[in-house]
Amino acid sequence: MSEPSISADAAPGPHSLLAKLRVVLVEPQHPGNIGACARAMKNFGLRELALVAPLKFPHADASAMASNAGDVLDAAQVYATLPEALADCSRVVASSARPRYISVPVSTPRDWAQRAAQAFAAGDGGRIALLFGRERTGLTNEELERAHELIVIPTGGIDSSLNLAAAVQILSYEIGLAAGAAIPQRIVGDQPVDQTEMERFYEHLQRALIGTRFLDPEHPRLLMRRLRKLFGRAAPSANEMSILRGILTSIEDVLRGFGPRP
Ligand code: SAH
Repeated sequence: MSEPSISADAAPGPHSLLAKLRVVLVEPQHPGNIGACARAMKNFGLRELALVAPLKFPHADASAMASNAGDVLDAAQVYATLPEALADCSRVVASSARPRYISVPVSTPRDWAQRAAQAFAAGDGGRIALLFGRERTGLTNEELERAHELIVIPTGGIDSSLNLAAAVQILSYEIGLAAGAAIPQRIVGDQPVDQTEMERFYEHLQRALIGTRFLDPEHPRLLMRRLRKLFGRAAPSANEMSILRGILTSIEDVLRGFGPRP
């Protein structure tokens, strides 16, 4: 069984910020990186991938690294030039390892994602291109000049250059969080049982405890009340409840000397 994923696997609706974002990779050199980017995107609900003059694509390494995100990869649009990839976008945001000396705002992924989510909620619904550069040399100055703003992943001044797919992963994560990704609630079947089940359990527990003489029905004191508090706090799931009921039944079986059940 696979782990529950953080994001819903379903495609984001047209009214989601995620559906307005296009990840644009400029001249990616390693096809494996393209696949890893597709996977990172899909994990957090981003679906639109554009490739500008990729060196090798399609490629087996891209498919291998994409894993479950083969659909994002298959739907990737390939463009000969950057202007074509940006043609229908109203905003261009470049991700860069180094803030260049150009006069556009620079944000961290977190700040940018939160602002984008707020702008989207306020009705700003244009398509946004998120631009990523070549593995070796990043984006050229001319490409950067097309950007309305820059995102820089701060690395604490050590080595500022991340692997391309790692940079896409971090941005996708922050955007996914800002767009409302959340850890799933307890998985179905693991929900706490309802009060009818709990009452049946308390009756069964009481019967078994009277049977073992742990509980004296003439002097019950506060035992059942305390046990209710304990098991109420545990909020057992259906699976856990069937274990508890099984234990009680096994106690009753012993009490009856394994004779026929009533
Ligand atoms: N050596 C290049 C980096 C290329 S890494 C340079 O110094 O520019 C490939 C791409 O990943 C970059 O063009 C950028 O889009 C993204 N990237 C890598 N590290 C990043 C960082 N710290 N912040 C933002 N984007 C980054």
